Amino acid sequence: MTKFIFFTGGVCSSLGKGIAASSLGCLLESRDYEISIMKIDPYINVDPGTMSPYQHGEVYVTDDGAETDLDLGNYERFTSQKLKRINSVTTGQIYKTVIEKERRGDFLGRTVQVIPHITNEIKRRIHLVAEDSKADIVITEIGGTVGDIEGIPFLEAIRQFRIDVGAENTLFIHLTLIPIVGVAKEPKTKPTQHSVSKLREIGIIPDIILCRSSVDLTDEMRQKISLFCNVEERAVITAKDIKKSIYEVPLNFKNSGFDEIVLEKLNLPERESSFKPWEDLVKKVYAIKEKVKIAVAGKYTELHDAYKSIYEALNHGGLANNASIDLKKVKVEDVNDDNVAEIFQDADGILVPGGFGERGIEGKITTIKYARENRIPLFGICLGMQCMVIEFARNVLKYRGANSTEFDPETPYPVISLMEEQNGIKNLGGTMRLGAQPAILKKGTKIYDAYNVSEINERHRHRYEFTNKYRDVMEQNGLVLSALSPDNNLVEAVEYRDHPWGIGVQFHPEFKSKPINPHPLFVAFIKESLNKRKKSN
Ligand code: GLN
Repeated sequence: MTKFIFFTGGVCSSLGKGIAASSLGCLLESRDYEISIMKIDPYINVDPGTMSPYQHGEVYVTDDGAETDLDLGNYERFTSQKLKRINSVTTGQIYKTVIEKERRGDFLGRTVQVIPHITNEIKRRIHLVAEDSKADIVITEIGGTVGDIEGIPFLEAIRQFRIDVGAENTLFIHLTLIPIVGVAKEPKTKPTQHSVSKLREIGIIPDIILCRSSVDLTDEMRQKISLFCNVEERAVITAKDIKKSIYEVPLNFKNSGFDEIVLEKLNLPERESSFKPWEDLVKKVYAIKEKVKIAVAGKYTELHDAYKSIYEALNHGGLANNASIDLKKVKVEDVNDDNVAEIFQDADGILVPGGFGERGIEGKITTIKYARENRIPLFGICLGMQCMVIEFARNVLKYRGANSTEFDPETPYPVISLMEEQNGIKNLGGTMRLGAQPAILKKGTKIYDAYNVSEINERHRHRYEFTNKYRDVMEQNGLVLSALSPDNNLVEAVEYRDHPWGIGVQFHPEFKSKPINPHPLFVAFIKESLNKRKKSN
């Protein structure tokens, strides 16, 4: 029988519910439990694929090509999970399914209502993950904050869920905030009390309360929360702010006995814990002395979440090289020929991330030219790779006006274009290439050295491709086409032949990097950036 854990959040957003759920997943796996983990987002979009990164942060892509919430990235980084489309559910998907059923006449003339039709569909989705994963424990994070109007059907559904599968098979964990108020800097439990009472209105009494706080909760505070919120005192757990790295959270939780109480309440044996790799990881985070300065030249640098997986993958690459990342976020629209040298003079490595639309493209191209000419390690991802190709065409091949047809449909040199355009098809209804696909690496290239295998499988999210008719001229002039699709049809990676480390990839390696298992390209990029740093010191 699968057990079900539900995470809800109170008081306000951004308290780290996703990290908390991921950390619990990590702890349960360390005790040899099979888990699966899913996110339910109350917004009406079917998926976040169409949302602006400013609204939502990055769109995380799974192996099976689903465009999902960035919390799925956290889940994968903290656990051994490879998540699927079914692990990400939204209000939009739920309503879409129910309305399609209604149109087919599946409800046999009945009035279709939130209870039971919407709540049934929500419960079905949770059972689906349990059945598909065959996990011992399914962790479900309910997005948003208790009290949000759009979250109500989900809370109602999980209340019913407990009745359906039995209290002994479900666990409600509620994450709240303990603010520190006033000149006396007093930690306050009242918002927690209010948020739990809001949850109780719906009929949910949490089994465990996690209190996000900058201080350790005193016994007195825990007694108070216990009394007012109707939870055992030992089930009031501090989720203390971390000092250096989010990867400390599982360790902190472990030290507070979080996983033990979870298992006890689910009537599951404790099992021995093998947590050494995580302990070592955290030790390493604290031991690191060396720094490496990496500039990320992107469009959405104001919002950390917009490049979340890239920043995390850089950290992983850093850890593997015993260095911490000194991140320099460069707003690429501000970069031009006059200031590029000044902006990047102290960068040991430059990463140009993916993106859509014309804004910032010229800044990216200027940045890339500078990195190529000044032999600075350069890592182009997706649009970053496409800009490397455009830059190479314009400045090395002297193709004036070379571009991607995404930005200039009339360009005389469409070095990046849609497959349909390349094949002379006029109807350009190109859909995105999404999810994990194989590629073959060319021996003797830097990308091959990094991976040290010849076939890779990486996740994609793009529409445009390298235009094949330019393959020969690019290679003859020093741009190596270092990875191709197995049928040789698509260019998946490029690199500069005469340069310390300049690699562009059409896929998104950042999605598959984990702290315990860092992505080889990020490891190699940081290694080369450290070399550059040593040379210039
Ligand atoms: N806009 C480009 C394309 O659609 C790149 C996408 C990306 O960087 N994810 O091909």
